[in-house]
Amino acid sequence: MFVDVARIHLKAGNGGNGAVSFHREKYVAAGGPDGGDGGRGGNIVFKVDDNLSTLADFRYKRKYVAENGENGGTSRCTGKSAPDLVISVPRGTVVKDYETGRIIADLSDDEPVIIAKGGNGGWGNQHFATATRQIPRFSKPGNPGEELDVKLELKLLADVGLIGFPNVGKSTLVSVVSQAKPKIANYHFTTLTPVLGVVSLGEGSSFVMADIPGLIEGAGEGVGLGHEFLRHVERCRMLLHVLDISGSEGRDPKEDFEIINRELAVFSEELSHRTQIVVANKCDLVDDEIIEEYRAYFENKGYQFFPIMAAIAEGTDALIKEVAEALSKLEPIKRFEAEPAPKADYTLNTKKRTFNVRVVDGVFMVEDAPWLINVMNDIDPDDYESLQYFERVLRSSGIIDALIKAGVKEGDTVSVYDIEFDYVP
Ligand code: GDP
Ligand code: MG
Repeated sequence: MFVDVARIHLKAGNGGNGAVSFHREKYVAAGGPDGGDGGRGGNIVFKVDDNLSTLADFRYKRKYVAENGENGGTSRCTGKSAPDLVISVPRGTVVKDYETGRIIADLSDDEPVIIAKGGNGGWGNQHFATATRQIPRFSKPGNPGEELDVKLELKLLADVGLIGFPNVGKSTLVSVVSQAKPKIANYHFTTLTPVLGVVSLGEGSSFVMADIPGLIEGAGEGVGLGHEFLRHVERCRMLLHVLDISGSEGRDPKEDFEIINRELAVFSEELSHRTQIVVANKCDLVDDEIIEEYRAYFENKGYQFFPIMAAIAEGTDALIKEVAEALSKLEPIKRFEAEPAPKADYTLNTKKRTFNVRVVDGVFMVEDAPWLINVMNDIDPDDYESLQYFERVLRSSGIIDALIKAGVKEGDTVSVYDIEFDYVP
């Protein structure tokens, strides 16, 4: 079974908690704080594995959880960071945020990509000793790891896509011009999984041709099999539109051509403007006048026209030469740019912004506010405007009010995850 879309759940590891501990030694009455920091939670990393050709693995395993970082220990011992969880995907997998559809990454190159970041470990109490606070009895919890649902879509990387009705000879064409051996049979939908064939042109140059399962009427609206597979032609730099010129099975090649192009346009306007060459197959079954009549018809419409007999590889050399020529003038295969995560404006009261204020040793700790970590990641402490924004967030979310209610006074220490500051009313 060919699977080219999947939805999976990712949870990166939480950071380990910082430790509270004090130096103990014989004959030393009261040592200083020596609680170590928590370790980093594991990231979830995606990388390309060329042995994979479908997303089938993700049908059975849908939840991926990276390990948490270890908690800090005594004697300034930092907890162990968790290893990254590496997920292998076929080349050409596009990862999107399931909720928003935002493109997070296009796994087309060999570079691994972090899709969900592990949380930083919390600080142990060794960091919190100050002149006025010599016995800090608190540490920081680790930050939570990112958690999200992603949609995986396999969008094949091929230079040339074959389109056309079932049974017109697409698989036959790929099999004679490349080493690929797709299934060929005289019935519809024999091609259930796209097949990539490398067409070598000699002198080390080559291009990739994709045999895509037959498109059928209504495919653009999601009817039947075809629509699923249009995704794969999306990246092709050009298309070969294969027609059964003999009109066997009572088909009219001109009408077929229009139907397929309408389907392409419904799926993607952009795709319908991609360079197309008309390939008239099964020329052995018709007279030369008919071929010439079709040639005139399609050339009139501005298409290049190549009559072939795929089954005996007649006319395919000239076709391949022309395809190579056309490709040399086209842009390289499309890579999808990662889209930046939208910056939520946390001064607006749109999101549920939970938090908790806890007072330990005179320090006002703001906790249980994972959303605040996102805000803080964007704060530049050296930038006045940025700090003002942070303050507005603290106000609008009710944190300042809660601090006041907890009894905060001027000069008290407020501690929010990685940031500590003195309260100024
Ligand atoms: P696809 O569904 O478009 O991939 O079509 P296939 O490549 O599976 O071919 C469908 C049928 O057409 C098979 O029986 C092929 O043997 C036959 N066929 C392919 N090329 C030619 C050709 O040039 N002439 C004739 N007469 N039949 C062909
Ligand atoms: Mg086929």
